Amino acid sequence: MDILNFIGGMHLPAIENGWLDNIEPATGLPYGRLPRSGAADVERAMEAAQAAYPIWSSTSVEERAACLNRLADRIAEHFDELVAAESRDNGKPVSLAAHVDIPRAEKNLRFYASAAQQYLTEAGMAAGAHQLHYVHRKPLGTVGVISPWNLPLYLFTWKVAPALAMGNCVIGKPSEITPATAFLMSQWINESGFPPGSFNIVHGLGNEVGEALVTHPRIKAISFTGGTATGRHIARAVAGTSKKTTFELGGKNPAIIFEDCDFDLTLRTVLRSGFANQGQICLCSSRFLIHESIYDRFRDALVEKVSAMRPGDPSLPETKMGAVASAEHLAKIQSFVAQARELGGTILCGGQATHPEGDRCRQGHFMQPTIIEGLSPTCEVNQQEIFGPVVTLQPFATEEEAISLANGTEYGLACTIWTENLRRAHRVAARIDSGIAWVNCWLERDLRMPFGGVKSSGAGREGGTESLRFFTEPQNVCIQIT
Ligand code: NDP
Repeated sequence: MDILNFIGGMHLPAIENGWLDNIEPATGLPYGRLPRSGAADVERAMEAAQAAYPIWSSTSVEERAACLNRLADRIAEHFDELVAAESRDNGKPVSLAAHVDIPRAEKNLRFYASAAQQYLTEAGMAAGAHQLHYVHRKPLGTVGVISPWNLPLYLFTWKVAPALAMGNCVIGKPSEITPATAFLMSQWINESGFPPGSFNIVHGLGNEVGEALVTHPRIKAISFTGGTATGRHIARAVAGTSKKTTFELGGKNPAIIFEDCDFDLTLRTVLRSGFANQGQICLCSSRFLIHESIYDRFRDALVEKVSAMRPGDPSLPETKMGAVASAEHLAKIQSFVAQARELGGTILCGGQATHPEGDRCRQGHFMQPTIIEGLSPTCEVNQQEIFGPVVTLQPFATEEEAISLANGTEYGLACTIWTENLRRAHRVAARIDSGIAWVNCWLERDLRMPFGGVKSSGAGREGGTESLRFFTEPQNVCIQIT
């Protein structure tokens, strides 16, 4: 598959830098190419976007929504193709792409098509009814959208949908590791009715085309999802400019398992929250904090289940756990496990790179699901995001200790709380530093709710009206009445 940029309604290769290999994580082998774009490609996209802006920003919200819905229709029609492409590009099982990634990409477009049409801004009469105030929300201009590899089309559409719905032109950059589904989607943008230049996609490396996008003087806003270090780098790069930014960054999410939890439900769900997508969801639980009275029983039951999980060829429908995203990422995960060993941690299961049976995946990037206990809460393995199928276990004695452990990292994206005690659930949720607290569930999302992290997990919120607000500039219009 030769992937191309989509600029001004046309598919184009990079102007200067040639190509990058696109690697299939399950085989470790290149299976296509993508443009290694740079500043010249961003400039070309910017010119196209600036030309389209007067048209797109003055298109009615109903028509913009219709374009998004038509693109969603194409996604639905090409469902199987997108599922296979997402799985091949990312290493995730086809079953996961079919249940999570592609349905959500379609839903993102439809949700924002609807939300933008129903969005009402504030209005109010001044005291004495002498003036009427209302808020006019204007699009920003051309905005940049940068997304990561773990939920490729899901997170890309989550950002581009509200930006486009509110009348902005977009230059999007998917991760160089997973460009395929954004490219497939780009083939349906023209026929969905978007004017050429309103929705552009450039491919390539973060530190090349990503950097050029972020620092382009005419980019009005950057919506970024990715690692905390990259987010900080971008924040520094735009410091001193008036660009709006939103950052959705890494996590080190605790699962707090109290002695009064529903044991079977908790076990079943934390298996998913720990290991879904090979642990490569920013919302995955990576630190399991377990009350000491059930620690041994819970640990043993968890180890038994996880020991039975085997990574398989992601293209097979029965596979539940696939490959990790790249050779570099596998090496990073392994380095954390090695560190855990050096620190005296006990590897209760897993701990090794592996590959499924058969020839196809022999050189693929697979990691055994891994559980570690016996580490200090303050060691790097318990502090840094691993972003792989690796969880640590820590016992706690009191609610106070659980809260302190849960809050004891620089991150604050999500937590899960497992208890049948309603008062405790509310009490603990309120005290956890996180953007989301799930009680007796995980990954349940209502797209109207604000989404984001605190501390080093992010700045700003997405979701519902948060994104509609982010991608617009409010103007207070005041009319003298008497
Ligand atoms: P990265 O930070 O490495 O990359 C994210 C995106 O930024 C990619 O498109 C990347 O390009 C690009 N990029 C890299 N360097 C620059 C730069 N200097 N300027 C502009 N863009 C740049 O993250 P990963 O792709 O590795 O994704 C995993 C991370 O994302 C994890 O930390 C995870 O927690 C986080 N994440 C957070 C979520 C949240 O909502 N809070 C949701 C999902 C993931 P390229 O890859 O092409 O080099």
